Amino acid sequence: MNLLVVGSVALDSVRTPRAEVIDELGGSATYASLAASSLADTGIVAVVGSDFPGSSRDLLYNAAVDLEGLESVEGETFRWSGVYGEDPNDRSTLDTQLNVFADFEPKLPARCRDAPYLFLGNIHPALQTRVLDQVNAPKLVACDTMNFWIEGEREALDRVLPRIDLLLVNDEEVKLLSGETNLLIGARAILEVGPKAVVVKKGEHGAMLVTSEGLFVAPALPLASVIDPTGAGDSFAGGFMGRLTREKGFDEEALRRAIVWGTVTASFCVEHFGVRGVVEMSDEDHAARMAAYRETTRVAY
Ligand code: AMP
Repeated sequence: MNLLVVGSVALDSVRTPRAEVIDELGGSATYASLAASSLADTGIVAVVGSDFPGSSRDLLYNAAVDLEGLESVEGETFRWSGVYGEDPNDRSTLDTQLNVFADFEPKLPARCRDAPYLFLGNIHPALQTRVLDQVNAPKLVACDTMNFWIEGEREALDRVLPRIDLLLVNDEEVKLLSGETNLLIGARAILEVGPKAVVVKKGEHGAMLVTSEGLFVAPALPLASVIDPTGAGDSFAGGFMGRLTREKGFDEEALRRAIVWGTVTASFCVEHFGVRGVVEMSDEDHAARMAAYRETTRVAY
């Protein structure tokens, strides 16, 4: 295994202005691992309840995601529900039921402890810490979080930040975490507490990389049809991490390539409800869209 993904495996209920789905496979670890699995030997550490459908487990298994670290316990699977407005960036969480995640104690199988790349997906920061305590000197640790934890578990999150290399968050989370309204100032303030790089996901407005040396911005690929933005950030993170496992180091150029890769991966995610877009994305589809991305962003000075 060269990439370990820790996060939620969820049943999501999502409403958009045009449709609604109930108890669809979702979760931060689900999207990220599916998006990474064609690039990296990927495993997940998460928990599901006894109600978790066998078909969802099969879907992960068939995508070559290593499930040794997916624990199944008595009780209900983590559930999240959200609603989108006409603007796909406008999302409200309706409900978060931690269920089996409330008592989850991550126990990393031996294979997972040596993974050189670790992605701490959006999950309780205390669990992220317990995972960090069990891994054997990974080469790169990236971490995501969200307003739910920034507002509710700030102390636990502050213990994670100095131990990671890279923080992947959205614009709203940068502002909340740093207390700054300016994204660049906010991201630089986060660099002060530990991470060497902050990747700011800005939904349909693309992504931004902030390091002590530089700044990079990547627009999102404009899409004519956005069906369900759920999981876009996690698919971005999975594509980003998967691409990084193919690089020799983590210099600015490698991070830039990974950001563009993740941006293109996320574009597939939002075209369908749930995980379908990332599951059905072939290497050829991705390559074609990378070419379209190059063309759309090309400029001759
Ligand atoms: P994204 O759209 O990339 O921000 O990711 C949405 C996914 O994150 C959904 O599939 C949810 O199940 C999952 N999620 C939402 N809230 C939480 C939470 N508090 N902890 C862990 N996962 C969550």
